[in-house]
Amino acid sequence: MAKAETKAREAERGRLAKQRADALEERLANAMRAAFASGEIAYIGGLEGPLRHGIRASLCLSGWNWFDADRAAQATVEGALRRVRAVRPSWYEGQPEHTIQAGTLIERTRCIRCHNPLPEGHHKYCGRLCANAHFKQMENLRNGSEETVVRVVTWNL
Ligand SMILES: [Zn+2]
Repeated sequence: MAKAETKAREAERGRLAKQRADALEERLANAMRAAFASGEIAYIGGLEGPLRHGIRASLCLSGWNWFDADRAAQATVEGALRRVRAVRPSWYEGQPEHTIQAGTLIERTRCIRCHNPLPEGHHKYCGRLCANAHFKQMENLRNGSEETVVRVVTWNL
């Protein structure tokens, strides 16, 4: 008898937890939709990091350990991302050049690689050496092994 009551109470707690999780996912999804509609974020999933951090921090402050809190925060935010049908941008869409609209003029005065002043008639690189080095660096970032990517990213640090 006591066992049956306990089981019923556990089932009720499970239902309640599911309802609370669903309500939280919907609130997060609404926040994502509102931020995207107002132009605050350029991608509807743009609040993923801050929301995951905020939920995790809140759970940690209420006594959860970091890993459990992070897992719960990740699951909740992923649920919200599914609700808004967020599709992650491609690597190319994540680059600063991607946000440049057609017709936008950006006058670059320094080489994108070595930062020396651009010679007359050059718009991005000071010469062939910097252009080739930059292309190779981008290729390594896109296709390189984890070790290569870490080396490329930390090269100037
Ligand atoms: Zn250069």
